[in-house]
Amino acid sequence: MTENLPKKSMSDIVALCKRIGFIFQSSEIYGGLNGLWDYGPLGVELKRNVKEAWWRDMITHHDDMNTLPGTPEAFSMVGLDCSTIMHPQVWRCSGHYDLFSDEMVDCRETKARFRYDQMVGRWVSRGADQIFATAPEGDNAPELIERQALKHFGLRTKHADQLEWQSEITPLPGIDDLSRVLAPTAKELGTLTEPREFNLMLETHLGPVKSDKSRAFLRPETAQGIFVNFKNVMDSTRHRLPLGIAQIGKSYRNEITPRNFTFRTREFEQMEMEFFCHPAQSHQWYTYWRDRRLKWYKDLGLASENLQMRDHAEDELSHYSTGTADVEYAFPFLPVGDYGELEGVAHRGDFDLRSHMEGKLDEKSNPLVVQLGEDGKPKHRGSGKDLHYRDNLSGEKYIPHVIEPSAGADRATLAFICEAYTVDQAPDEKGEMQERTVMKFHPRLAPIKAAVFPLVKKDGMPETAKEIYLALKKHFNVFYDEKAAIGRRYRRQDEAGTPFCITVDGQTLEDQTVTVRDRDTMNQERVKIADLRQMIADRVE
Ligand code: ATP
Repeated sequence: MTENLPKKSMSDIVALCKRIGFIFQSSEIYGGLNGLWDYGPLGVELKRNVKEAWWRDMITHHDDMNTLPGTPEAFSMVGLDCSTIMHPQVWRCSGHYDLFSDEMVDCRETKARFRYDQMVGRWVSRGADQIFATAPEGDNAPELIERQALKHFGLRTKHADQLEWQSEITPLPGIDDLSRVLAPTAKELGTLTEPREFNLMLETHLGPVKSDKSRAFLRPETAQGIFVNFKNVMDSTRHRLPLGIAQIGKSYRNEITPRNFTFRTREFEQMEMEFFCHPAQSHQWYTYWRDRRLKWYKDLGLASENLQMRDHAEDELSHYSTGTADVEYAFPFLPVGDYGELEGVAHRGDFDLRSHMEGKLDEKSNPLVVQLGEDGKPKHRGSGKDLHYRDNLSGEKYIPHVIEPSAGADRATLAFICEAYTVDQAPDEKGEMQERTVMKFHPRLAPIKAAVFPLVKKDGMPETAKEIYLALKKHFNVFYDEKAAIGRRYRRQDEAGTPFCITVDGQTLEDQTVTVRDRDTMNQERVKIADLRQMIADRVE
């Protein structure tokens, strides 16, 4: 986004996503379900392309014979696909069972639940009566706070100037006394409970009898499947370290306040890779993956002015991590200057493998095996399996260190949607300038690569266009359309983000050429039918 352009409207983007089939609310005909979304015909193709681009960059196009520029040595990459429900002990040792929680506050009056760290408010008074009116943080927070204040003081909107604002908008966690706090949509003051820890793992039961023994969890991240399979992968593939093991799959978190469209949801897909390496080289690898992951987003079209790499400060780091950085994007639903996390790249040391070997570790990386769980058994017991790596050439034995780039497929897809969304001006059939909505996806991500049209529905044009369509369909996702005026057909494909529109016209039947219209420049060039496949392949690359 350049400075001269207005901020993109998130509600326009959400409306477009629904109207043309990128993203729908889950179970919409029953009123929807909070924090859950479905991908429509265009969205599913887009998200598949995002995941495929990641898999290709991480795994299939990786050349492990050569040392890549910036890497200490040659490395291997493999994939994995693990179950979404794992042994409950996995979550005790990973720390999720005890620590994977957010603080929440409940409103006793409205029964609504909010994430404590995501609530904001503003001190406001009228005469001697002073309150702290609140709202969930977000673009419309100022409006919601004002509405609450007006309601509390019994004022109409036109009398908003009678409100005496005593502070700027500040986070709720800075307020010690909750008795003067007015919760969102509540009538009474002081209805918020003190913040309480809330575990984000979604529970289920395995088998016919519901009991403590049958209790299991839907995975809150894909990473643990990789750690617990480290030995299996090493034994079955005979790879040497450094080795990256990658996985794409669903994860579940019982988010207290899912929001911002698909940014924070309760079911989402992650693209995670655990890179196992020698401790002495782990810092070089951390820097390597940190830079490479940022480049991936840039190469696929996220503008550098909307992207940033934010290194965590010392006090933000987990005790086992010596470096963590987030790739962040300036989503349009955030205030100007704010960024939202797309991916975290973390140096995790040997924390995870050691935990699964010895039991959950404490702050000083000592195993906490002695605490007893609800069932009276040792709570934090590890697998007891030897997860050391032995280098056959050097004979050295060590617990590998791990670098973890952990990305969200849905957040990446949303960022590509927001970045692609463009409203510009284009001439219509009569040559008059009209507003045009166009999704400027990188051709590799575009759901449909090319659309094929006969200019008119006669003179043999539909037959030739269908032949071209069927020939290209073997290689790309292409679309055939003969309905409506050609200009309207172009506009529909602009909204879907189709990079090329191929039109069969009168000249085609004479010289076997077609026009190819470029989505972004709207320029048309004549291309031989025989060259179409190669042309699309080149540009998609
Ligand atoms: P946040 O601070 O935004 O909750 P996180 O730091 O907890 O994210 P990680 O545990 O590092 O996230 O997960 C890795 C990636 O998974 C995130 O960068 C994000 O892209 C994705 N992700 C995590 N939680 C969600 C969610 N609730 N909805 C959609 N994507 C998510």
